[in-house]
Amino acid sequence: MVMEVFDYDLIVLGSGLGGLTSAIHASLASKGKLKIAIVTKLHAMRSHSVSAEGGISGVLYPESNKDTKELHAYDTVKGSDYLADQDAVEQLVEMAPGEIRFYDHIGVAWNRDDSGHIQQRPFGGMSIPRTAFAADKTGFFMMRALYDEVTGFENIDVFHEHFATRLFLDGGRFSGIFAIDLATRNSRLFRGKACVIATGGFSRTYGFTTTAHSSTGDGIALAYRAGLPLKDMEFVQFHPTALVPSGILITEAARGEGGYLRNNKNERFMEKYAKSKMELAPRDIVSRAIVTEIREGRGFVHEESGLRYVHLDLTHLDSKLLDERLPMIREIAIKMLNIDPHKEPLPIRPAAHFTMGGIHTNINGQVMASAEGGIAGGLWAVGECGCVSVHGSNRLGSNSLSQCSVWGRIAGTSIPDYVSAVPEMTGRKTLDEMAEQEESRINDILERKGTVNPYELQSRLQSTMDELVYVYRRTDSLQKALATVKELQRKYSDIYVSDKGRVFNTNLRDALQVENLLDLAEVVIEGALRRKESRGAHAMEEYPERDDANWLKHTIAFKEDDGVKIEYIPVKITRWKPEKRVY
Ligand SMILES: Cc1cc2nc3c(=O)[nH]c(=O)nc-3n(C[C@H](O)[C@H](O)[C@H](O)COP(=O)(O)OP(=O)(O)OC[C@H]3O[C@@H](n4cnc5c(N)ncnc54)[C@H](O)[C@@H]3O)c2cc1C
Repeated sequence: MVMEVFDYDLIVLGSGLGGLTSAIHASLASKGKLKIAIVTKLHAMRSHSVSAEGGISGVLYPESNKDTKELHAYDTVKGSDYLADQDAVEQLVEMAPGEIRFYDHIGVAWNRDDSGHIQQRPFGGMSIPRTAFAADKTGFFMMRALYDEVTGFENIDVFHEHFATRLFLDGGRFSGIFAIDLATRNSRLFRGKACVIATGGFSRTYGFTTTAHSSTGDGIALAYRAGLPLKDMEFVQFHPTALVPSGILITEAARGEGGYLRNNKNERFMEKYAKSKMELAPRDIVSRAIVTEIREGRGFVHEESGLRYVHLDLTHLDSKLLDERLPMIREIAIKMLNIDPHKEPLPIRPAAHFTMGGIHTNINGQVMASAEGGIAGGLWAVGECGCVSVHGSNRLGSNSLSQCSVWGRIAGTSIPDYVSAVPEMTGRKTLDEMAEQEESRINDILERKGTVNPYELQSRLQSTMDELVYVYRRTDSLQKALATVKELQRKYSDIYVSDKGRVFNTNLRDALQVENLLDLAEVVIEGALRRKESRGAHAMEEYPERDDANWLKHTIAFKEDDGVKIEYIPVKITRWKPEKRVY
């Protein structure tokens, strides 16, 4: 089979908010000169970002609501349980308002008040309402506006439904990407000087999750296998309010607009856990509160699935407000459960939602080649797959859309200078050979007469993570989870792909995704086992306190032949000394 080869200046892997903003800003900064390919395993507009609901954070009107960037930064650092790098947080809050206005200029239909100001709603852990929103479909409106922009650039080509399986480096510098055209199963080699990895998070390592089936962390796994370091992978965010039994998200905006959490005694139990913030405490705290209520017998049981839950009560909210600001939530509840939130409370429990860890980058979004040394030339990681780190051990809701946008701009704007400064790649022959090896590897998987069904591996992985690596963790449970993951990894070498066809062979794609999920789950568990403290989303039952003396540091993970190698690097503290986190 002939492999098609494409040459671009910049390859953007992923077409969510991180990918599209990187491509647009690189194009604008180069005045349309850079030749850019967006390579994405879905149709661009099906990227997971379209499902973002509640909004994007940024200080817009300091003169009228007394908000400040300093306060936004402080809330974010405190929310992160002091693991965020504070220089990166300062960068985020400085640029976030400009990003919201940028979306305004490209046509996002923000909700506005009577004076024409963009409305901002309260969100968990934020001191002041600073989350701009477009009803409860914010991500969809942002993606639509960005995609409209992208189609207007003649120098940007979008390769929809192209599944990347390998990232190539040459002498520590990015050289190309191997992808399968899903429509035909033809192999494609994308060669380029620069690459932005923007492939999203890996919450699909879990079964009960709010995220799309596509959130399999592919780009993170590709970077990891290419020898690049990952950061803080043990920190997985569980969103407190996922609908039972489907796991569909009920946005935090539902509590931002006044929703209550109630147990089976009809008590607003958050009073015991976060007296001043109540339902709007950060997600790690609310999730632990829900799980504690359930464990202590104050939850409900969903008969069919056996899942335990508490209630999200919106019945007291003004029906006009529900219809104007949370229309999708109402529609979801009616369609999925035949429950009208005007009239009855919703069954909810915490679900895997966001992955704070990812590819280790510096403050410019450039991928690091080692824990503290130099960068991998020509590589950026932006959006949920990159760990810069602004969220530390617990992200505040609405900070992700700003993070994707800010670092999409930072990466995109700096790439044209990089591309014009670096010489052409010389190792073309080596790259072509590496691509041929990758093609043979995939053909081998297809032709293999194995005995193991990859979907069964995925399902065992997900139930293991759901049960043993959830909101509360224990050393023995994590050890059990690690043993299972290693067993599944061994079995992976004996998988079979039953569909041998060429057209949209999703069976092959899914089998390759399972390998990514297994590798990333291993890193999550290895990091969690070693971290003997509780910080943000990582709550260890044996070590219930945060331990700054020993653990105020980032976990850096490398792939080795027989497992994961872990190192640690210090957290960057600029202005806010760690203090007790009380809400
Ligand atoms: C239901 C839900 C609601 C949310 N609401 C909010 C909110 O209101 N506010 C907020 O701040 N955050 C929210 N978040 C988080 C936020 O939506 C995400 O963190 C963010 O959208 C991630 O964007 P991204 O560009 O990094 O990746 P994604 O949007 O996930 O895009 C990943 C891209 O990578 C491509 N890709 C992946 N693997 C490959 C591969 N192997 N080959 C080629 N392409 C590949 C995919 O096709 C896709 O285009 C929400 C999350 C969920 C689950």
